Amino acid sequence: MDQNMPMLFSTRSLLRQILQSNILFLFFLAVCCTPPEDPVKCSSPNNTNCTITNSYGAFPDRSICRAGSAAYPATEEELIAVIANATRNGLKMKAATRFSHSIPKLACPGGKEGLLISTKLLNRVLNIDVKAMTMTVESGVTLRELISEAATAGLALSYAPYWWGLTVGGLLGTGAHGSTLWDKGSSVHDYVVGLTIVSPGGAEDGFVKVRRLNDGDQELNAAKVSLGVLGVISQVWIN
Ligand SMILES: Cc1cc2nc3c(=O)[nH]c(=O)nc-3n(C[C@H](O)[C@H](O)[C@H](O)COP(=O)(O)OP(=O)(O)OC[C@H]3O[C@@H](n4cnc5c(N)ncnc54)[C@H](O)[C@@H]3O)c2cc1C
Repeated sequence: MDQNMPMLFSTRSLLRQILQSNILFLFFLAVCCTPPEDPVKCSSPNNTNCTITNSYGAFPDRSICRAGSAAYPATEEELIAVIANATRNGLKMKAATRFSHSIPKLACPGGKEGLLISTKLLNRVLNIDVKAMTMTVESGVTLRELISEAATAGLALSYAPYWWGLTVGGLLGTGAHGSTLWDKGSSVHDYVVGLTIVSPGGAEDGFVKVRRLNDGDQELNAAKVSLGVLGVISQVWIN
């Protein structure tokens, strides 16, 4: 009996080791993260017959938001052309982002014919002025990219919501904030010193209006926290 004990112990410890390594393996599998799916999905070619959801995959009223089509402008010029064309055709439109973290149905254009204008490809950092401590970015840049690009240039943000898979346009649209008392406080829009917003226009404007608003412009505050109802912000100048 005694002779069998070491064998019993070694079998047990072997089993324990196998169990532990499996649990460790499962743990690493469980924490391995991937970005959420694109919230905009189109079932027909040319990005038509689309739906949009939020990052949870369901809006609070459980309804599905349908849109006639989706556009993915990659430059400000393309965005201007998309909005002019949609306005000429009388389409409802709404800005949508790569992540759609807002829980309510903010990004739904309403009506099956509506147009989703995604900022997924409008995602470049355009300029970093280290001396002035400012950055100019396109509105689809994520908070993660903003922090990372700032850090590469030796800068840091003194404000941020804790969740970094958000876009600059979405952060502004919802007035997102963190919790610091440092500097001007924790709302991201309080650090925006200029932006460009593209809105529908009349026939005399070619069906599109481009407003470049700077600090001191009365319209800047309204354009910053607008829930996407005043147009699509293309570029943001942030301090
Ligand atoms: C897990 C989690 C944690 C969160 N934590 C915080 C937090 O700590 N602090 C906080 O304040 N909030 C928090 N939120 C809310 C979150 O900040 C907002 O939902 C977020 O700002 C949305 O960003 P988004 O890029 O996903 O935009 P979306 O949800 O896609 O869009 C938000 C609104 O902005 C509009 N919009 C987007 N881009 C543009 C553009 N380029 N031009 C004009 N309008 C545009 C859209 O039309 C829509 O109306 C959290 C949300 C989640 C899911």
